Amino acid sequence: MNSKAGGLGEFGIVDLFRSQASAEGKQVIQGIGDDCAVLAAGGQDCWLVSTDMLCQDVHFRLSDTTPAQLGHKALAVNLSDIAAMGGEPVATFLALGLPATVPTDFVQGFRDGLLACGREHHCELLGGDTVASPTGLVFSLTVIGRMPREQVITRAGARPDDIVCLGGLVGDSAAGLSLLLGQGAAISASEREKLVHAHLQPEPQLALGRWLAQKAGVSAMIDVSDGVVQDLGHICAESGCGAELVADALPLSVAARNLAQSTGGDARHWGLSGGEDYVLLFCVPAERQQEITQSCLAELKIEIFPVGTITAGAGVRVGIDGTWQRPSSGGWDHFK
Ligand code: ADP
Ligand code: MG
Repeated sequence: MNSKAGGLGEFGIVDLFRSQASAEGKQVIQGIGDDCAVLAAGGQDCWLVSTDMLCQDVHFRLSDTTPAQLGHKALAVNLSDIAAMGGEPVATFLALGLPATVPTDFVQGFRDGLLACGREHHCELLGGDTVASPTGLVFSLTVIGRMPREQVITRAGARPDDIVCLGGLVGDSAAGLSLLLGQGAAISASEREKLVHAHLQPEPQLALGRWLAQKAGVSAMIDVSDGVVQDLGHICAESGCGAELVADALPLSVAARNLAQSTGGDARHWGLSGGEDYVLLFCVPAERQQEITQSCLAELKIEIFPVGTITAGAGVRVGIDGTWQRPSSGGWDHFK
């Protein structure tokens, strides 16, 4: 009997392609499996290329977002993959699937949000494709970036004893989503606004990514799109190592903590498995971590949070409430 592809899961499906695709072209430095593909450019530079898609009622509901916020987010989540390699954006291409009934105002608002985000990050819209979609809005953006080849930070360089760091707060986006879905509201209007904004209008950490790439010693990097546990798991899989994550070390906002408290929840879960934070998660040799943390604060005014350690094993263990748990084993109730 022919099985259904959904049973393979997202990463099983990607593997159907990855296992058969060749990445042997002379220009290919990095093929499928990282935040961006990396291609040799002239001289010392390389091109970065990444594609991400947003689908109505999978990634967003029209009732939750303004068109401009949606345009911003469509580009921002793609730029975050450029940030995750340490690169600088250059250009973007927009593939648009639109139901014919979508108001022109909506398309103009989406355009304005997308172009404003592009202007902010020096990323020009240079092309795309437009089709009628019978099943809702679909946006797929491809972004192109550029950087010096020897500065590229992949997911594959983490080594045992490296410190796992986050470049910003996690959990706000998932907390914001839970508010949009109608869960709990016993927090102030400004906290609510902050959490919902984090979900609807994430900012790619391009300046941090570039800065880290120029500092020798960052061994691996990814952006947190699927939750800290899963994204750290990608680094472990590509680097052939394991990791220990300390749940209480996760940087969580006061607003997320207050919301969790008001609903009897635990804000750490939003950070561990919520996703869509689009902050950078990276690994640094232990002896360099303090210096990088201090100079990043001094030079970029960005706080770096150590949250765990790379180990010689495999997979991610989470230290929480006095025990070590492996989220993927199904033994961890916090994910249910
Ligand atoms: P990210 O969360 O950083 O956008 P993904 O988890 O979506 O990354 O993708 C992981 C890797 O798989 C990336 O290198 C991406 O380019 C690749 N990939 C995803 N879907 C496909 C596909 N349908 N065909 C080929 N490569 C894919
Ligand atoms: Mg990514």
